[in-house]
Amino acid sequence: MTEQVLFYHPEKCSGCRRCEMACAIQNAGVSNPALANIRVLLHPRLGTPSLVTFFDCTRCQVCVKSCNLEAIQFAEEAGWRELLQEGWIPVPVADSLRRQPESEVN
Ligand code: SF4
Ligand code: SF4
Repeated sequence: MTEQVLFYHPEKCSGCRRCEMACAIQNAGVSNPALANIRVLLHPRLGTPSLVTFFDCTRCQVCVKSCNLEAIQFAEEAGWRELLQEGWIPVPVADSLRRQPESEVN
């Protein structure tokens, strides 16, 4: 089985942050989005959402199941090209943002 990559669709995602909360509860045991392995970033001027994940992501799929807009999904390599053509964006993996206060992330 190939590596699964998390994708999000910018036109489906509302920036609601349910995925952040679900991840924090599942993986840190507390309802604190700052401890989630996924982060929803809202552009300060446009309000458009972008997502990043962290290397600690366990690929547990809880974020995917929590999204009632079906705006995120994991996909294996065989499906990447089709998703890209449909406007899905691979969620970047970063660690440098994890400890930044939310007010500094934009
Ligand atoms: S991916 Fe889904 S749950 Fe996460 S912010 Fe976007 S719409 Fe909300
Ligand atoms: S798949 Fe990763 S980002 Fe999503 S809930 Fe699980 S640990 Fe968090």
